[in-house]
Amino acid sequence: MNHPAPPVAARRPFAAELVDKLREAFGNRFSTSEAVRVHHGRDESRYDPQLPDAVVFASSTEDVLAAVKLCAQYGAPIIPYGSGSSLEGHLLAVEGGVSIDLSGMNRVLSINAEDLTATVEPGISRKQLNESLRDTGLFFPIDPGADASIGGMSATRASGTNAVRYGTMRENVLGLTAVLADGRVIKTGTRARKSSAGYDLTRLFVGSEGTLGVITEITVRLYPQPEAVSAAVCAFHSMADAVRAVIETIQTGVPIARVEFIDSLAVRAINRHSNLTLREAPTLFFEFHGTAASVEEQAQQVQEIAAHNGGEGFEWATRPEERSRLWNARHNAYFAMLQLQPGCRAVTTDVCVPISRLAECVIETEADLKTSPLLCPIVGHVGDGNFHVLMLLDPGKPEEIEEAERLNRRIVERALAMDGTCTGEHGVGLHKMDFLAEEHGADAVDTMRAIKHALDPHNLMNPGKIFAWTA
Ligand SMILES: Cc1cc2nc3c(=O)[nH]c(=O)nc-3n(C[C@H](O)[C@H](O)[C@H](O)COP(=O)(O)OP(=O)(O)OC[C@H]3O[C@@H](n4cnc5c(N)ncnc54)[C@H](O)[C@@H]3O)c2cc1C
Repeated sequence: MNHPAPPVAARRPFAAELVDKLREAFGNRFSTSEAVRVHHGRDESRYDPQLPDAVVFASSTEDVLAAVKLCAQYGAPIIPYGSGSSLEGHLLAVEGGVSIDLSGMNRVLSINAEDLTATVEPGISRKQLNESLRDTGLFFPIDPGADASIGGMSATRASGTNAVRYGTMRENVLGLTAVLADGRVIKTGTRARKSSAGYDLTRLFVGSEGTLGVITEITVRLYPQPEAVSAAVCAFHSMADAVRAVIETIQTGVPIARVEFIDSLAVRAINRHSNLTLREAPTLFFEFHGTAASVEEQAQQVQEIAAHNGGEGFEWATRPEERSRLWNARHNAYFAMLQLQPGCRAVTTDVCVPISRLAECVIETEADLKTSPLLCPIVGHVGDGNFHVLMLLDPGKPEEIEEAERLNRRIVERALAMDGTCTGEHGVGLHKMDFLAEEHGADAVDTMRAIKHALDPHNLMNPGKIFAWTA
């Protein structure tokens, strides 16, 4: 254990009386056991766990409200917990407090097929939601690599491989219910497709990382299953050629559903992990959605663009099982890459730049990584200008952590200089806090702080995340 998160603030005292009251209210849905607290005090980041003092397993908005009111009464921090797949230290209980586990709130409350919406509880995972939609001919497209909860995905403003066509959680959450720190329960948005009624509180909560309130219901957009789907894989001589093919595809206006970049090292990792035999070269995975004719036309256009940029061996995967093998391999890429170096941990970057600067950004990043002793595979949702470098490090070697953080800083600074962002989809958590003012300016961060003060004046909701609290 030698990866402590940067110190943010001291742990707050935790009242024994609060333990008694929570136990009385929640019975066996309350725990102070070390194993349960360790599970809830960590995420998928490189940081060591920081344990909450207790964990409540909520079953309803009323449960969340009861837990929040008790915590507020005793000044205890509250950390909403979805499925624990976040990557930036979001769930570490840096000031102690109570983790509210929402995974038991996993019901679909309604599906409105005519309006293409569903209202769900926050703990339902993206796969569970799609399973529930199976007979409706509809689907929910946002697909982070992990089977994350819709609440967690809303709270981190997540996206995934489909965002280039269907948008991110920002575009796909229509409204939500949230429990605020003072015990008010608010509903934001409606099921209407658009609204000009006042400040957009839905979008304020989407991406708020548990720092403004606990989301207990979410209304999301759904989409009809496309009539035809086909996927393809194409290898390139260089990362720059692959990225140029993507940029040309986007700029030509081909309504591609997915386009993912995987560098040679990442291809090696997924070949090993998922038993594939892809050529170890910079590679693009594509998917096309539409009518049979439009899919054919899109694929033809993209194949020509790929060939024009030196793409070779454009291979089709038209059968559903071939396609899911490919996309499962892509979704498992993170764990596959970790296995390149047994026992390692990873620092993951998540920059996103305007598509016109993507080639420049990845070429400079690749050159930088070549000078590093660390293994650094690259994958990316490149259709959005978003890519991830996984910097694999030996947890016993402080110099490797330092090197990974040095590379991370250079990658972020390069993206910011190109009018990009330090995080396209993973969020800020603890790890990106230093970059927020650089990205938005001090006044913009102060405006965020003012909102936090207005909604959570005692800093109870997931304290120590996104930006430092100032009284
Ligand atoms: C293998 C792998 C691949 C990934 N791929 C992607 C990807 O492609 N795209 C992407 O965007 N992310 C990706 N991620 C990151 C992660 O899956 C997302 O950040 C996801 O949205 C987190 O959801 P979760 O349910 O696990 O949330 P958690 O990790 O449980 O929580 C994340 C944050 O949200 C808050 N939160 C959770 N639930 C609520 C709630 N109901 N109300 C208020 N706040 C809440 C928490 O307090 C915390 O701050 C990946 C992670 C892994 C491990």
